[in-house]
This record gives sequence, structure tokens and C-alpha cells, in this order.
Amino acid sequence: MKRNLIALLILAWLALCILPACTGNIAGKKEPGTKEVETRKAEIWYLFHSGFAVRTGKHLLIFDYCGGQPADNKEGLSEGVINPAEIKGFEVLVFISHGHGDHFSREVMHWHKSVRNINYVVSPGVATFFSDKDAKAVATTMKPGEEKKVGGVEIAAFKSTDAGVAYVAKVGGVVIYHAGDLALWGHSIEKQYKAEIQKVAKHNVDIAFVPVHPRSVRKGAIWDGALYTVRELSPKVVFPMHSQGSYECWDEFAGEVGKIKAKKEEIKPQAVAAKEKGKAYIYRDGKVEEAGKHQAP
Ligand SMILES: [Zn+2]
Repeated sequence: MKRNLIALLILAWLALCILPACTGNIAGKKEPGTKEVETRKAEIWYLFHSGFAVRTGKHLLIFDYCGGQPADNKEGLSEGVINPAEIKGFEVLVFISHGHGDHFSREVMHWHKSVRNINYVVSPGVATFFSDKDAKAVATTMKPGEEKKVGGVEIAAFKSTDAGVAYVAKVGGVVIYHAGDLALWGHSIEKQYKAEIQKVAKHNVDIAFVPVHPRSVRKGAIWDGALYTVRELSPKVVFPMHSQGSYECWDEFAGEVGKIKAKKEEIKPQAVAAKEKGKAYIYRDGKVEEAGKHQAP
């Protein structure tokens, strides 16, 4: 009888001590991979023209890199140049909107030889360049209207008004839009342009990269289209791009963005004229600030 009582007491004690520990573990269990990723935070490097690199957690997304061989091993993101040795520890996604020389350089197709975790996200036209079977194996083709998950990143593709596609990428709690050459190249294509931007607008974009030229180019249509995009997407941050190193128009555009009323009235889009190759920015909870020049952490 006494022995039974002791056994019962031990069982009760075990139940009291172990059960809460178990349930506590279950309640506190995190999704795999979420521990390292600080959500809603991104680091952005301006590479050149329409080229940008965005890091969230272990992911490094590289958009429309148009080249620049590192002269020596010191060069890297802080110089606006991709050095495979610097980025090999990341889960890298290389986005190529189309095959024009100001958005694509064939050197990117060699990075997979030294970067173990790499995926290429390419338009159908660019996919034909990936003839090397190893590069082909890590390339995903995105047609306009398609949505895919690649290397843990959710991606949607949109039809460009020029060649190829534009991308929305969702990773680490941040939604990124890179337009490629989806721009209002002339007012005659306004209907087509706006219809595509409305599709992008469904994605709650945080950071947008949008083509902006001097006003004089093509009678300001590109400019009008870029402002339309900012209004409709209501991104927290917009980076003008695609001006081949002529930067005055980006400053002027940033001033205009400060005056516009975004569709989501609670958001005041912040425009950043990057202007210097390799310059880095930190995006955190809807705000962006300069981070100076530095390499990948
Ligand atoms: Zn272009």
C-alpha cells in the first residue's frame, strides 16, 4: 500500500515536471530556418544601372547584374562588383530579367562553379543561354504570370513592356519588386503598362526598383510611369534605376516621390537615389538608411 502511494507520488511529480516542459517546447517551437532570419530587414547594395544586391538573412538576391570583373580578390559588393569568393557562403539567387547587355552579363553563368547554394531565375529568352548542363540544372525559367518557389524564395513574374519579365520576390518578411525593363516607354503603351503594374500591386511591395530616365528622354513617359508605379504599389522604399550612371534625374525623382500621395495613404514612400557603386543601405521595418560602403557580412 505504502509502496503504491510512493509510486503514485513519483508519477504525479513526473507529470508536473515533465509535461509543462514538453508543452512549453512545442509552443515555443520555431519553423525550421526562421531562427537566423531577422524578418523585415534587408541590406541593399547598388551595383550599377539596374543592378542591385539584396540580403535578407542567409539569402543574397542579385538583380540584373551587368558585369564588372573583379580586378583582384579585394573587390566585391563594397565596389559594386560581385566576387564569387565573397558571396559563396550565402544562399544566392541571381535574377535576370532579360538578355540585353545592360541587364545581363554572361560571367554570372560561371558563379555556380564556386558558389555551392546558387539558383538562377531567368526569363525564357535568357534560359537559352544556359546551355552548360550544370548551369542549366540550377536555372529556373519564369514566364510572365508564373509563380514559383526557388531556394526558399517566393517569386512571381510579370510581362515587361520591353523584353523579358519583371520580378516580385518574397523572402525574410520583405517583398521586393524589380522592374527589369517594365517601364512606360511611350504613352501609346499606357494601357498595357498600367494593367501589368496593377498585377504587381497585389503583392504588397516593400522595396521597389523602378526605371527612371531624365525627363527629356521619350517626352517624360518613363517618368510618368515610374510615379504611377510608386503611387499604385505604395512601396515603403523606392530605388530609381536604369540611367547608365547619369544621376541628376534620380535626385529630382526622389523629390517628386516626396510630394506624391500613395494609394495606401498610411504609407509615405521613401525614394533613395543610390548614385555610387557599392553604396549600401539598411532597410528595417519600413524605413531605409545609408549603411556606407562595406563587404558582405
Ligand atoms: Zn534596360
